[in-house]
Amino acid sequence: METVAAADLETKLQQLLEAVDRERAPLELTAYVVRGEPITFGDAARGDYRAFHVGDKWGPPWSTTWFRVRGDVPRDWAGKNVVAYFDLGFKGHPGFTCEALAWRDGRPWRGVDPRHRWLPIASPEIDFYLEASAIPTAVVSGPAEAPSMIALRESGDPTFEFRAAELRIQDAAARKLALDYRVLYELAMALTDEERRAQVLDALNRFARSNDPASLAKVLAQPSTSSHVITAVGHAHIDTAWLWPLRETRRKCARTFSTALALMDEFPDYRFACSQPAQYAWMKESYPDIFEGIRRKVAAGQWEPVGSMWVEADCNLPSGEALVRQFLHGKRFFMQEFGVDTRELWLPDVFGYPASLPQLIAESGGEYFLTQKLSWNDTNKPAHHTFMWEGIDGTSIFTHFPPADTYNGDFSAGEIVHSAADFKDQDRSSRSLYLYGWGDGGGGPEPDMIESAHRLQNLDAAPHVELGRAAEFFARAKKEARNLTTWVGELYFELHRGTYTSQARTKKLNRRAEQALREAEVWSVALGDGYPADVLDSAWKRLLINQFHDILPGSSIDWVYEDAERELEAVVEIAGSVITSAQSALAGEGEKLTVFNVNSHPRREVIEVGERPIWVDAPACGWASIDESAAAQVEPVSISGRAMENGLLRVTWDAGGLLTSIWDKEAKREVLTSGTRGNLLQLHEDNPKNWDAWDVDADYRAHSADITALKSATVEMDRPLRAVVRFAREFGSSKLDQRMVLDAGSRVLRFETEVDWQEEHKFLKVAFPVAVHSPRATYEIQFGHVERSTHSNTSWDQARFEVCAHRWADLGEAGYGVALLNDCKYGYDILGSVMRLSLLRAPTHPDPAADRGKHRFTYALMPHPGDFREAGVIAAAEDLNTPLRMVRGQLTTGERRSLIEVDSPQVVVEAIKRAEDSAEVIVRLYEAWGGRCRARVRTSLPASRAYLCDLMERNRDEIPIHAGELEVELAPFKILTLKLTP
Ligand SMILES: [Zn+2]
Repeated sequence: METVAAADLETKLQQLLEAVDRERAPLELTAYVVRGEPITFGDAARGDYRAFHVGDKWGPPWSTTWFRVRGDVPRDWAGKNVVAYFDLGFKGHPGFTCEALAWRDGRPWRGVDPRHRWLPIASPEIDFYLEASAIPTAVVSGPAEAPSMIALRESGDPTFEFRAAELRIQDAAARKLALDYRVLYELAMALTDEERRAQVLDALNRFARSNDPASLAKVLAQPSTSSHVITAVGHAHIDTAWLWPLRETRRKCARTFSTALALMDEFPDYRFACSQPAQYAWMKESYPDIFEGIRRKVAAGQWEPVGSMWVEADCNLPSGEALVRQFLHGKRFFMQEFGVDTRELWLPDVFGYPASLPQLIAESGGEYFLTQKLSWNDTNKPAHHTFMWEGIDGTSIFTHFPPADTYNGDFSAGEIVHSAADFKDQDRSSRSLYLYGWGDGGGGPEPDMIESAHRLQNLDAAPHVELGRAAEFFARAKKEARNLTTWVGELYFELHRGTYTSQARTKKLNRRAEQALREAEVWSVALGDGYPADVLDSAWKRLLINQFHDILPGSSIDWVYEDAERELEAVVEIAGSVITSAQSALAGEGEKLTVFNVNSHPRREVIEVGERPIWVDAPACGWASIDESAAAQVEPVSISGRAMENGLLRVTWDAGGLLTSIWDKEAKREVLTSGTRGNLLQLHEDNPKNWDAWDVDADYRAHSADITALKSATVEMDRPLRAVVRFAREFGSSKLDQRMVLDAGSRVLRFETEVDWQEEHKFLKVAFPVAVHSPRATYEIQFGHVERSTHSNTSWDQARFEVCAHRWADLGEAGYGVALLNDCKYGYDILGSVMRLSLLRAPTHPDPAADRGKHRFTYALMPHPGDFREAGVIAAAEDLNTPLRMVRGQLTTGERRSLIEVDSPQVVVEAIKRAEDSAEVIVRLYEAWGGRCRARVRTSLPASRAYLCDLMERNRDEIPIHAGELEVELAPFKILTLKLTP
């Protein structure tokens, strides 16, 4: 038989696709331009509409143009399948160009985007609106300069050329034929099985020559013999903010969600999974019709809420309690609005997963975890797609990475065939998940994708494909899987290592907001009456949304950080005023000094009142009145020449202000590596090949300059309780001012730093070479810590050349260690015996001026005898982050109260809050050392009964409580949530 060349087969496909739409009839347009923030439909309908023609330009960047679309279906088209077709001037990738929401009869109708260009027309008279967003293109990597979106939204000419607005007849038979042909064509191109491939090509050839659909039908009817089943779930990954601000995402959701709802009416078997309750909450608030539509489709089983977290949050940077609240608010929303208790954590796109997550999933009632992001790893590709993931506490979670390695599948036959073929756990499981649809405003699945699904459901040489729900996939896959392997520890993402550092102001405000909310809750509980539940609920949600995986990591446009900094400052301020009013009420009116300590260990330390350092003794998780004149029972600190010392440490520095020695008087040993200098600032060239704000490339170390020049060194304070030396430096176009602070009785040497940062593509680190040798270092993560290598023996160690930690990292050998603490930083590297903290970056994409300007942060070195646990490193890091608060009040001297006291230093109180649904009090504890223990918990809060509950605050077991005392048992890193009934 004569065969047709592959290129001709493709030409045939184009001809078939072009034959679907027939005839053209113009539509009439008028336009109303709105600069600045979007307006409601009601306001838009009253706008001043001007004549507009196809071919005209529209859309200054970030503006909205409302198009009124009118016309009549030609009479002789009656009975035909008519659509309105638009090309708004789309350019580039779907989701990253202009988009519109069609409004009909005053209600949102369907989205219009590059992959959803047509709207079905049912009546002969046409009159509807398009709310079109002029979204400019951001630049995420060089060499093209990235625009400032803040500047662009003020300026600019229309950027899109409206290319088409017309009626067309869509030929259903021609469409069916084109889609039949396309699936077989794609299949033939993807197959490696020669026999089947020849058979499919033969059918395509016959059709190309004869145009007889029967030749296609015959091959399409041959059933699959594969044992693999793919559950295909419609999906639209919408980044809550990224290359567009939050306000645009609200509209992206409205567009994509209306499209998804419309497709559910057309295809009853279509299923769509959608995460991020925060986005649903926007619909409830701004698009009640869409929200009602979602509610109906959830009830019908077509729309599937997935995910569990309030947003798809970054998981490296948020605190443990913030992650808990992501689950708490996320799952509560789905339960309250839809009665759906999600069982999976759904984070396809997040940049790494800490080893505390399995416990958080299980403790919030979940069973499953999904991502695919680790397929992007630059060094080691994950060895499995389906496995058990075990966290630091031993909890194991059924985990699946969809083998298509994408969350934006196109439903091509090739992707389906490869997805099954590439599945790495064939001998353990016969199921995988496939997520298809355009994200980020690209409108989710196309009708043609669902049509492809129908043809691929049971087709020879392809796996079985079912349009289904993620929940069904997880339940079946977990039940059927056998002999799964277990991955123990963090799922470190081998890419985007700059996201621990980029956009430092937002990260700092995030840390401050987390702490402020924690304190606001604790002191409000202490006060009892008038718990500001609504204020705290809304403040938490403002924080949680800003932990989204492109906001907090630092990978968004400048406009997003303008919003994030404003929002997080507001959270800090709101929480701050709750704290102030609660503490004033607790302390009463008077002039006596009262100290408040939110941490769960007692503290004895120096604080400044006015400018006078005094010694205070604060109870755990409570407050006490202070005798300001009481003498400190502690050896004083003093400065002489270039040395500063207290009873524990003697610190000396050179003419350049660099530390030449830290002598531990108690341990009688030198802390710094001999011949090196400590507190050395190092400036690296930082030019990642891709993903500027996201990545630090491994070769960044090759170009480094030590900052050794000193402008001035000044003794700022030399008192018995506190000594301060100020070092001022200039480098490049930047200025750095540091106060080195040592307090009496303290092992914590603080560096309070102010930087005017004016560099570009530079990475600033601080280094402490220490006389400690160990193959492993320890890093704090949420609700515990992990160990990582200090060498690069294996490719896995090599890939961890920059890692994430929370408030401390520790390098310890038998009998001695050094901790490096911080109050708002997250990036570390400890290679050999050199401990380094990442301070600032200066990427130019997508925010051209990221991080330029003023920064304030504090880090500290804490040398200590013994193990970091017994040495109190965890407590010291907590204290650095939550300074004691002083209030004037009327408590009598010696008066003190603890809300909660725990008799084991292994146990940390993470949160004390009012229960979400009652006046009961929630106390969250965790075992922080990684060892089993029993602890007695004593509370001064009214508590007649006590329950152990899950993170959702659902009771599990009652535990006996007598006279405010109860006993708990904790396994390593175990989180316990107690509920106290007054
Ligand atoms: Zn994303």
